[in-house]
Amino acid sequence: MSDLSALPLPATAELGVLRQTVADWRRQELKIGFVPTMGALHEGHLSLIRQARENADRVVASIFVNPTQFAPGEDFDAYPRTLETDAAKLAHAGCDLLYAPVASDMYPEGFSASLTIGGPSQGLETDFRPHFFQGVAIVVAKLFNRVQPDIAVFGEKDYQQLLVIRHMVRDLDLPIEIIPGATLRERDGLALSSRNAYLSTDERRVAASLSEILAAFAHDLSTGFDWETAQGKALAKAANAFERVDYIEARCAETLAPLPPGPAHQPARVLAAVWLGKTRLIDNMPAV
Ligand code: AMP
Repeated sequence: MSDLSALPLPATAELGVLRQTVADWRRQELKIGFVPTMGALHEGHLSLIRQARENADRVVASIFVNPTQFAPGEDFDAYPRTLETDAAKLAHAGCDLLYAPVASDMYPEGFSASLTIGGPSQGLETDFRPHFFQGVAIVVAKLFNRVQPDIAVFGEKDYQQLLVIRHMVRDLDLPIEIIPGATLRERDGLALSSRNAYLSTDERRVAASLSEILAAFAHDLSTGFDWETAQGKALAKAANAFERVDYIEARCAETLAPLPPGPAHQPARVLAAVWLGKTRLIDNMPAV
């Protein structure tokens, strides 16, 4: 691991240093904001840091590529790791402390806890990455316990994850306010993602159509189409554009439960996961 003391903002891998820093801030009655990430930071992540800044006096960001949310064969080893440039971006965005723990500290030998959050974790991502939300829930619960923030900002880019975290905080009585951050996009609509770095030039061109398909899907729902018809249209377009479609679905925006048949009369969300070569893209938008 690189030398964290050489980074352009206070940074630590040590739980003791994290706790001490946060305890000092608490003694000063400062409000603590937290933004967990896996690094390879882009403007989307930085917008969450700025949002945390607006809602808290001090901001902690974590960078941890969490092994428990990757299945064997997924891109854990290939996931981009760019700590130095990430640190410079965090410093510029107004982050006060970077916490970058190592896996052997987060998951020591013999680690055996697991955490299942039901509700919004059912279906969608879970149908294709059954291990995923258990991995996310355990790492976010641990990071919440370590940082003990007052607020935490999560991106709507990972909408199902945002609802799962909200559910976890409610069900476990964690005294943390979860604030949603809007999805930042490229000019052509592609949602910013660390995984966009995997796309070839040709794939990058095609990738933008995901947001167009979702926007048309959301528009159809808003203009009174049956969701079944709108979803069928969106699926046909996505199947044409992408090598594989894991899902493209309309769900209840609050719970991610399936919609009742016919036109949507309640706030809905359209969500999709598709593949281009080795890259899996996910995106979602509000509808109705
Ligand atoms: P990750 O590093 O991919 O785990 O993401 C860390 C946080 O950044 C999560 O809360 C994501 O939802 C959020 N995020 C990722 N991409 C974007 C984006 N394009 N706009 C806003 N937030 C994002």
